[in-house]
Amino acid sequence: MSGDDTGNTNLLDPQAVLDAVPTGLWIDGKSVPAASGKSFEVFDAATEEALVSVADAGVEDARAALDAAVAASDEWAATAPRERGEILRRTFELLTDRADDIAMLMTLELGRALPDSRAETTYGNEFLRWFAEEAVRIGGRFNHAPAGNGRILVAHQPVGPCLAITPWNFPLAMGTRKIAPALAAGNVMIVKPARETPLTMLALAEAFAEAGLPPGVLSVLPTSSSGDVSTALITDDRIRKISFTGSTPVGRNLLGQAADRIQRTSMELGGNAPFLVFDDADVDAAVEGAFAAKMRNGGEACTAANRFLVQSGVVEEFTAKLVEKMSEVRMGPGYADGVTLGPLVNADQRDKVAEAVEQAVADGARVRLGGERPDGRGFFYPATVLDNVDPYASVTREEIFGPVAIISAFDDEADGIAAANSTEYGLASYFYSRDIERCMRVAEKLDSGMVGVNRGVISDAAAPFGGIKQSGIGREGGSEGINEYLSVKYIALT
Ligand code: NAP
Repeated sequence: MSGDDTGNTNLLDPQAVLDAVPTGLWIDGKSVPAASGKSFEVFDAATEEALVSVADAGVEDARAALDAAVAASDEWAATAPRERGEILRRTFELLTDRADDIAMLMTLELGRALPDSRAETTYGNEFLRWFAEEAVRIGGRFNHAPAGNGRILVAHQPVGPCLAITPWNFPLAMGTRKIAPALAAGNVMIVKPARETPLTMLALAEAFAEAGLPPGVLSVLPTSSSGDVSTALITDDRIRKISFTGSTPVGRNLLGQAADRIQRTSMELGGNAPFLVFDDADVDAAVEGAFAAKMRNGGEACTAANRFLVQSGVVEEFTAKLVEKMSEVRMGPGYADGVTLGPLVNADQRDKVAEAVEQAVADGARVRLGGERPDGRGFFYPATVLDNVDPYASVTREEIFGPVAIISAFDDEADGIAAANSTEYGLASYFYSRDIERCMRVAEKLDSGMVGVNRGVISDAAAPFGGIKQSGIGREGGSEGINEYLSVKYIALT
């Protein structure tokens, strides 16, 4: 790929950004080739052409990374919390300086539009700053035993060597959300990024090393055989914690593997977020929120609004305004100027989205915008709005993970809530209403780990992110996030 034939007129040269990224495995503080000598290619989703080759980790490399991690573990756990926090803070500052390059890198490997990548750079980097501050606030407690016969001291200690497995849809933030609390708490970590997007994690590992992170504390293993590499690590007794973000079926499989050794797990899994609009809502504000909740990351977000449930009194007004807003989207290569919707990450993802739309239409949905898969190269799918969708239709069952808004009408509050909760998922939900009593009532009744009330974007490094039901176990971010990486020890004293 060259800077010339991409439509890019940004000041950054994409090739220079790619050339600066280490493409080996990151083990023991340096970039090294895979033991097998193998590599795999990372593709540009807009052109379908290879961008760069990356070293392909195998089982032998996984063991080498774990050996290095275990060797670094005791010393890192004993490093002063302030020093751990300062390394995180310096990494935050390095990434802030490199924000444009990191954003371009994410757009190159993932496809999505540059404004979304810029937003992720800020969001993802914020976990480094937040947990730099949390590193010095790891507490414990002291009590007198109620019977008066002893003292109870509770200490929080590092859980031990951790494995993080991350998805492609937020190449930076899904890493920093795990790495920052793990390291702040005094743990070492091995990260297995998604095959589609290993480059950002490698750039992050390099920044950590520049910030003074000792070798072995963080390793990154890009691989084309995720199952083999992960299993080699999970079946090793030295791994004490597995933190996974990705789809529910893969999370279920990993939980099964972790059960053999009773490893601690955090699971950030799939979502199917409902977005309700009540008759008393500010419809213009709801349309803005709906657009953000749907189109952030081109729809490739676990928190993306997947089903719009709109009360009958405002459904036509909401739909017409959302169609107008979505029709302003400009589709093209993510790195080209003015583009707000890039391609989807790969052919499978694009085909899944196209099939979901075809199925919905076959089941009676009406196409109000888009709905046609474009010809030509690149995994593009246009902004699409479908209405007249039965709130229990098959298209409402699964994550769409693309720029497709499906709209169903409901009559009363109880019907809306019942439809919203009729899913095995429970990550995020959103609703719009101007009635404060309804806001409290509905927020409490929605079955999800996170609820956006009159807002369409809820992610925040300072808030606990996570789901209930089959959307996961555990929380990332907030003051809760570091607890996932700490073991509780009770020390009984006389
Ligand atoms: P995925 O297919 O489950 O993959 C996620 C990660 O797991 C990737 O690194 C993948 O590696 C790896 N993986 C796949 N099969 C594996 C196996 N058998 N053993 C070990 N690792 C394996 O999910 P995705 O398609 O990348 O991401 C989209 C999904 O993630 C959606 O369901 C979305 O909702 C969810 N997600 C959830 C959150 C959250 O916080 N709850 C956030 C973002 C995304 P390879 O790709 O290299 O195979």
